[in-house]
Amino acid sequence: MSIEESQITKLAIMGGTFDPIHIGHLVTAEEVRHEFNIDEVLFVPTGHPPHKSNINMTTSEHRYLMTVLATAANANFKVSRLEIEREGVTYTIDTIKEIKKVYGRDVRLYFITGADAIHKILTWKESEELLQICDFVAVTRPGHNTEELLHQIEELKRTYQTSIHFLEVPALAISSSNIRDRIHNMKPIKYLVPQEVENYIKKYNLYEYKIYLTTEERERMCSYVASKMSPKRYAHTRGVIEMAIEFANVYKINCDEVFIAALFHDIAKELPLAEKENLCRQYKIELDDFEKRHLDLAHGKIGAAMLENEWKITKPSILDSIRYHTVGREEMCDLEKVIYLADMTEEGRSPYKGKEQIKSLALYDLNRAMYKALYSSYNYVTHLLGEEIHPITFKLLEHYKQYDL
Ligand code: ATP
Ligand code: MG
Repeated sequence: MSIEESQITKLAIMGGTFDPIHIGHLVTAEEVRHEFNIDEVLFVPTGHPPHKSNINMTTSEHRYLMTVLATAANANFKVSRLEIEREGVTYTIDTIKEIKKVYGRDVRLYFITGADAIHKILTWKESEELLQICDFVAVTRPGHNTEELLHQIEELKRTYQTSIHFLEVPALAISSSNIRDRIHNMKPIKYLVPQEVENYIKKYNLYEYKIYLTTEERERMCSYVASKMSPKRYAHTRGVIEMAIEFANVYKINCDEVFIAALFHDIAKELPLAEKENLCRQYKIELDDFEKRHLDLAHGKIGAAMLENEWKITKPSILDSIRYHTVGREEMCDLEKVIYLADMTEEGRSPYKGKEQIKSLALYDLNRAMYKALYSSYNYVTHLLGEEIHPITFKLLEHYKQYDL
């Protein structure tokens, strides 16, 4: 059962961006609670911290809810909405004053801060007053120089006659930035954050690796791609980019990622046969039996390998869109469908029966468009060209039939 605010005599405050909250925060809070006989630890997720650029920061509501999930099972932990609800830049001093109002003048406040922040306290707004109102608990983090920290603490104590305590918490080499990096690199975060937080991150796709290109990067990519193909194929490529971006806007897919996938989808198409074979060997590309017989169809896989190895783009959805744009595959993601469909419907492609219908379907239902597109390429290859069809196409036709209304 949680304690009434009026009964609390010792309150610890744990401020942070909590982007996301991790067990380093929780272990620290629990250690402080235990060591200083604290009645309640109040977690205060920040709104707009003045010292952190918030361009890439997760929305306050997500950070707040993850903090609630992480602390729900501990009767002595609570979460405050004070800072996330305040408009504009938030300062610790204002928060502390408001907390005093809620918990009463006599409450003793302990402000928890990591060793990485202690030397910056003096740069905070009204830091001297802050040092008078609160006790500070400086906790060590791994990799931080304890001696230097103790020295800083002594200095602050001497200058400001303030209470700064030092506490070593069990070493945890965890930080939120490290968690975000792990997610980018598709490494597990299990046991580094509470299970509920991990579930929440998955549910809302937080910290998913997103790509943003500068104008200069775009231009460099374009010249590279143009140098690998005829002007005619490059014109087709530009057409696919345009069409794919139009589709992608409907499905809220990251514009730069669509751009890269469309730009590179045919990069290997016109390479001489010997070079294709070389690249397959160099990048250890696995081809199925059908692709071995029709090496032309392998240009998707080769193109994806070129993008990954030469441009260090590793995002699976982009690579898969290039890899499988030729014949498609089961369980395609939206970006893969967008590239497949844009390739079939771009303006420059000669008109064929069904083209306009596929295009308009793609603007509101990717699966219905996929069925029509697969059906049309099946007809084209078997009836018009009289060529062998990849077995996957049959499978996909069967699968997408359910969307044919
Ligand atoms: P980022 O990597 O984005 O800076 P962070 O892990 O430091 O994130 P914050 O929300 O910035 O998390 O931290 C809130 C408070 O918790 C800070 O005072 C920070 O020093 C402290 N803290 C964070 N991780 C640990 C840890 N592993 N052990 C002890 N204290 C920690
Ligand atoms: Mg930090």
